[in-house]
Amino acid sequence: MKLPVLNINEVAERQLCTGCGVCASLEPERFRMDDAPSYGRRPVLAGEAPEETGDALRACPGASLTHTFDESDPDLLEELRPAWGPVYEVWEGHASDHDIRLAGSSGGAATALALFAIERQGMAGVLHTGASGVRRHLNETVYSTTRADLLSRTGSRYAPASPADRLDLVLAQDQPSVFIGKPCDVAGVQQARRFRDDLDAKLGLTIAFFCAGVPSTRGNLALLEKIGVSDPAALRSLRYRGNGWPGLWTAEWTDAEGESHTAQMTYAESWGFLQQYRQWRCYICPDHSGEFADIAVGDPWYRPVEPGEPGKSLIIARTRRGVEILRAAAEAGYITLETRDPSLLPRSQANLLSTRGRLFGQTLVMRVMGAAVPKFSGFPTFPHWLRHLSLSMKLRSLTSTVTRVRRRNLRKRIDPFA
Ligand SMILES: Cc1cc2nc3c(=O)[nH]c(=O)nc-3n(C[C@H](O)[C@H](O)[C@H](O)COP(=O)(O)OP(=O)(O)OC[C@H]3O[C@@H](n4cnc5c(N)ncnc54)[C@H](O)[C@@H]3O)c2cc1C
Ligand code: SF4
Ligand code: SF4
Repeated sequence: MKLPVLNINEVAERQLCTGCGVCASLEPERFRMDDAPSYGRRPVLAGEAPEETGDALRACPGASLTHTFDESDPDLLEELRPAWGPVYEVWEGHASDHDIRLAGSSGGAATALALFAIERQGMAGVLHTGASGVRRHLNETVYSTTRADLLSRTGSRYAPASPADRLDLVLAQDQPSVFIGKPCDVAGVQQARRFRDDLDAKLGLTIAFFCAGVPSTRGNLALLEKIGVSDPAALRSLRYRGNGWPGLWTAEWTDAEGESHTAQMTYAESWGFLQQYRQWRCYICPDHSGEFADIAVGDPWYRPVEPGEPGKSLIIARTRRGVEILRAAAEAGYITLETRDPSLLPRSQANLLSTRGRLFGQTLVMRVMGAAVPKFSGFPTFPHWLRHLSLSMKLRSLTSTVTRVRRRNLRKRIDPFA
């Protein structure tokens, strides 16, 4: 039986929280975000504030995700809509600036578009994520206003981040800002702007990157242990990708004797380890490709990457605003658009079709077993369940969900900070 999610605390305690932080922005007197090492960034109830929630729960992507785009728009790519949401254009390209392209996670498209918005579109800055200045294995929400700021914060960080917890920084500016985040971060912000006109007016561009899930802090600490770093305070730098495509996971630290060390791992090795520590909500995520953003970016992995190949980005314009900015950024020389081809999207991320289908069986099992299920609207799953999963994949999906509901204690309310 489906259990209703009644408030933000319950979203976190029933493991539906994505960690976006939008609740802390909308009701700062009630919530602040903190790191729950085994889960991710989670809202903490401030003081004795009452549990009932209003705006925060309305926007919360952990509780519900609802598409509101105009389905009848003839310019939307019809063939992509059922599995990939609203799409106007699909491109392969990269940042034109060499340094941004090199440092970027894929081809630096997210950073290049954000820089264009600041330098040529009169936007005030960019709300996004960077490594914590104090504890390099943790992330913090940052507001960048210059190329140097942006360049120092390029690259994917496979660790919890809640970039939507500082929407006050966006509201405080005279001019609109850019927001960059995971699909769930952007979805939370977009759901909030639907009823917050002040926020709507201050968001000039939203950029999401493709996301298969965010590993917990515990997972990151376990990976550091593997290379002999038991105290994360010793870290001087931790990068997951970039400086090459996809680039190497690179940790730099100083030991107790003051000696410097560096350890590296391939992307496949580090992600192969970290992905076991993804929060539960990522297993039932309906939006891995940034369906709520103006522009979504990912890896164009429709072909093997050659050694030493410079980074490339898959770039999806999802709104008319996204198309307009992308074209203008290309014209102004900030982004290089090479190939326009809708088939690049399913070819690059083919596994997402079965992932979408699996969601049908997963949510069915969760309902039957009494686990809480988010309300998703506008994400067809049954056709993908029928078309993209073999009988054995269907059975495996059902049985592994039964196991996970039990192992992860999904029928109970847990304390994420315990
Ligand atoms: C948790 C995670 C899962 C991912 N899963 C996939 C995947 O399944 N498929 C795929 O193609 N690509 C995945 N990526 C990589 C991502 O798609 C690429 O980073 C994307 O192509 C952007 O590349 P870029 O060069 O344009 O970005 P860049 O120009 O390097 O900019 C990256 C931006 O992301 C922001 N950022 C970094 N880490 C985080 C974080 N944890 N939370 C919020 N914002 C952050 C930075 O602040 C920066 O603004 C994942 C990245 C992360 C962090
Ligand atoms: S998903 Fe976002 S809005 Fe919902 S509880 Fe978690 S941090 Fe708050
Ligand atoms: S997989 Fe989905 S829920 Fe998990 S971090 Fe990525 S976008 Fe958010």
